[in-house]
Amino acid sequence: MTHVPLIVIGASAGGLDALTALLSELSPKIPAAVLAVIHIGESNAKLPVFFKNRSPLPVAYAQDYDPIEPGKVYFAPPDRHLIVEDGRLRLGRGPRENHARPAVDPLFRSAAEVYGPLVTGVVLSGYLTDGTAGLWEVKRRGGVAIVQDPDEAEVPGMPSSARQHVAVDYCLGLKAIGRLLNSLADEAAKKAPRLASHGGGFDMDYTAENPVALTCTCGGALRKITKGTYTQYRCHIGHTFGTLGLATEQFEQLRGVLESAARMLNERGKFFRATASEARLGKQEQAARAWEAAAEESEVRFDELTKLVAADWKRPDLVPASGGKLKPRAPGNGEPARRAASSAMSLRKRGRSQGDAATAKRAANGRKASA
Ligand SMILES: [Zn+2]
Repeated sequence: MTHVPLIVIGASAGGLDALTALLSELSPKIPAAVLAVIHIGESNAKLPVFFKNRSPLPVAYAQDYDPIEPGKVYFAPPDRHLIVEDGRLRLGRGPRENHARPAVDPLFRSAAEVYGPLVTGVVLSGYLTDGTAGLWEVKRRGGVAIVQDPDEAEVPGMPSSARQHVAVDYCLGLKAIGRLLNSLADEAAKKAPRLASHGGGFDMDYTAENPVALTCTCGGALRKITKGTYTQYRCHIGHTFGTLGLATEQFEQLRGVLESAARMLNERGKFFRATASEARLGKQEQAARAWEAAAEESEVRFDELTKLVAADWKRPDLVPASGGKLKPRAPGNGEPARRAASSAMSLRKRGRSQGDAATAKRAANGRKASA
């Protein structure tokens, strides 16, 4: 079958404003379909409502088995990966990639596999590295790779990482990207080759190759995958992380373990104090002193551990790859451990400004969605 050119777009924190600016430049007659993933997690972010009056093209959440038609914008819906098959869209609840579902990489990877040189991939604002591996595949299969200029991005992480690891064709401001997409789509539509179907879908192959002594959040063994200079880690069931994402995930787990240990020491101290009191009431003075000594030890170690939990930790995973400056973080919003929530937090702000209280409330649950 003849394929229409595809424009695949990935964005996270800061992505709503970025995508709004980009879409505003698209021609209503663009001969390409636009497929977009924004990290909304499970939150019912109502993207089609948000973009209805902000896009010159009709917008909708993708439905499973939707035919791919030019001149339309399809968003990945909450908690589903958006995947390209031959001439149609598929939705899946496959493993989270880069902590996210929907994630950018599965869309880019499947689009590249099926549509090859007819794909243009665009990575916009967001924390960490989702989209880098996908854009690398787009480029490898003859497509065009574009990133938002990290210096202009609200959150430079994603475009900065993509630019570092992929031989991108264009690094531009949003309006310029929008205008460029019109001309690229026109060119691609003219030469639209008849492509053999490859099926597409998830790359779920787990092999024992390149195992590393690291475990996934699910407990599975990880193996290392390299795409050019970009390194990914993937477990048996397909959870996938970039180096930064894995470092962030590991830190969150480490902090959780330390907090659990502190809580147990606190409990132990209180428990032993109470037990000492009971022993003393029962005239067991020697036992009482032993329980008290153990209680004191727990209290001292609780204090030490609490200091460790609260200490500053070196976090190279929070430093942008290159060419981007880390923006000051809003209190309780900018911490990349809450990266997937950040887009939702942006949504909440926008939801308020739009008076859409329901969107705001649901978007506030973004942190849970990213778990
Ligand atoms: Zn896993």
